Amino acid sequence: MAIQTKRGVSLAGLQQPMLDALTIAEQVYRRYGATLVVTSATDGRHMENSLHYVGLAADLRIRDIGDSRLESIYFDLSAQLAAVSKRFQVILESGHIHVEYDRRVTDETFKDEQSS
Ligand SMILES: [Zn+2]
Repeated sequence: MAIQTKRGVSLAGLQQPMLDALTIAEQVYRRYGATLVVTSATDGRHMENSLHYVGLAADLRIRDIGDSRLESIYFDLSAQLAAVSKRFQVILESGHIHVEYDRRVTDETFKDEQSS
């Protein structure tokens, strides 16, 4: 299923881990009867050194989701992405859900992940 974006937002610059994350996010949103809309990928203004600029972060719209559904979506998405890789970070910000894939997570963290 194609992932919807806000007008003018392109997923073209996203790296594969983020495309995988958005596929999962789309399924999670749909499970709760919501439609995923990506409001920012490599575009827009973000913090200096933001992973947005290298195609490893995306913002998801939460405007049309009620609080209780938002909480469910947030926890479900966090759990599903954590199961794929500890490198995924899901952050509930004031106007959107920010998802990133942090390659800076060290190999040591990964060893812990695999042995647990
Ligand atoms: Zn963001």
